[in-house]
Amino acid sequence: MEGEIEFMKVCCPDCNSEDVYKVSHIYEAMTQETKTSSNVVGVGLGNNGAGILVGTSSSSGETQSLLAKKLSPPANPSANGCGCVLAIIAIIVLIFVSIIVGVNSSGLIGWAIFIFGSIFISVLAVKMFTMKHPEYDEELRVWNKKWVCNRCGTVFILDQK
Ligand SMILES: [Zn+2]
Repeated sequence: MEGEIEFMKVCCPDCNSEDVYKVSHIYEAMTQETKTSSNVVGVGLGNNGAGILVGTSSSSGETQSLLAKKLSPPANPSANGCGCVLAIIAIIVLIFVSIIVGVNSSGLIGWAIFIFGSIFISVLAVKMFTMKHPEYDEELRVWNKKWVCNRCGTVFILDQK
């Protein structure tokens, strides 16, 4: 749990500014802004690079998406649909194999391969969707520790124990 006191005493390691924000908070505010079109967080390009101006709306969509990319959390591997596509390809291959085998021998063998293959692929697909992703969990853990400086735009990781 992070409280307001903790939020206040964080300093930027580059410029020592206390004007720093937790990346997850900024990202939340930014995604909320996109949804509601309110001016919670504005993003602009300053002289020293990208900066965040909280409370203003002087941002271009392009800059905002750039910063959103910089601050966005790691992609959830379970939600990218990769396993689903692989399962569909595997089933298509299986259908062809079943047909070829079925033509060359008796149709029953083709069906047997198809049915058992489908069960095998289904189990594999379920495993892929429910399996743990330690790299993702680690990335998310690190992302939750990231802070960004409002003055110089430095993104830094703060280990809070
Ligand atoms: Zn700074």
